[in-house]
Order: sequence, then structure tokens, then C-alpha cells
Amino acid sequence: MSLKAAVIPVTPLQQNCTLMWCDETMKGVVIDPGGDVDTLMEAVEKFAFTVDKVLLTHGHFDHVGGAMDLAERTGAPIIGPHADDEFITSNVVARGHEFGVTGGRDVTGNTWLNEGDTVEFGNETLAVIHTPGHTPGHIVFYNEKAGLAQVGDVLFQGSIGRTDFPRGDLDTLVASITQKLWPLGDGVTFIPGHGPASTFGQERATNPFVGDQAIV
Ligand SMILES: [Zn+2]
Ligand SMILES: [Zn+2]
Repeated sequence: MSLKAAVIPVTPLQQNCTLMWCDETMKGVVIDPGGDVDTLMEAVEKFAFTVDKVLLTHGHFDHVGGAMDLAERTGAPIIGPHADDEFITSNVVARGHEFGVTGGRDVTGNTWLNEGDTVEFGNETLAVIHTPGHTPGHIVFYNEKAGLAQVGDVLFQGSIGRTDFPRGDLDTLVASITQKLWPLGDGVTFIPGHGPASTFGQERATNPFVGDQAIV
């Protein structure tokens, strides 16, 4: 048995919506359905799994704008992010308009997650790691067995998340990455919220913001 994953970029911001499913039970999750729900539904049908849960890493509109539509169309509950992002998940429509993105909906009725929680689908488990800094309620989903993490806008190949949004903080973000993600191991592959995947080891070796040589 194994965990399967696919990445579908959505919205004009090319946000990475990640599909993960258990190939024994064909139950899965959709992480950060920022928009383009028709495209996501086609992908789910192509991979032929049942959407068990809709998961959110953080509240920004390009990650959550399609969550309500997807939840209604699949019957799956919306889980996450951490409650400290409530001021953002409740403001999706207004923020989207500021960036010229329409069609998103404010998120309501979701279940908040905390550090140490787990999310299960089929025979697979995701650990929840609270990683504030980009937003205060940002979380990372980590599948230990596959060594795979969905890190949202915390960490990118060669960069880190912006901290100039409301309640962002650079020192907090760097601490989240170096103290909570690096201990998971150099071999962990991560899917960021935008752009290509990488590994924690590659970023420790080369990332100018949080690489080992950047940390004094
Ligand atoms: Zn973001
Ligand atoms: Zn983003």
C-alpha cells in the first residue's frame, strides 16, 4: 500500500492544490483548493478516489477560495487551518477582490486543527504541525511513512513565505522552519504552496533564507 499524490496548480496565482489518496481504500484529501473547482473535480474523477476531507494549510484566499464549493460538491468536511487564521478565512472574498481574483467564498463551518493533531483518510495519516510566521494559524501536513510534507506558504524551493501580510513575522517563520521542519529529516520531500517541490536537505544546503549557512 502506498500514499499517492498529485499537484494541480489553480487560480491566476498558480497555487499548488495537492491531492493525496490511499491506494488501498481509494479515499483521499484535497489540500488547499484555492479555486478552479471544476478542474479539481475532473482530476479527482481521473484518479478515481473519494474525497474524504478538504484540508487547508492557511487562510489566504488563493489556498481556500474553492473550499466551500468543493465541500458541497463532495460532501466532505473542511478541516484546518489553526484557529489563529480565522480572521483570514472569514475575509476571502474581500481579499480576493484586492488581487483581482473572483469566485472565492469565505470559509465557514470548518474544524480547526492544533499542533499534534492527526488527519486520517483510508489507511493513511497526516501529522499536523503548527508553523506560524507567514500567517499565525498556518499548519503543515506531514505523512511520515512517505516522507512527504505539504508546507503551504511556509517554505519554497530557494525561498520562504512572505511575512509582510497582517500578523506575519519573519523571526517566527524562520523558527517554524528550522525548529519544526528541519528535525523531520533531510530526506523529507515537500510540496510548497507555489512552484516546484524540493527536499528539506536541499533547502538546508542551498536556501539563502533558512539554509544552514544563513543561520548564524
Ligand atoms: Zn499565503
Ligand atoms: Zn499562497
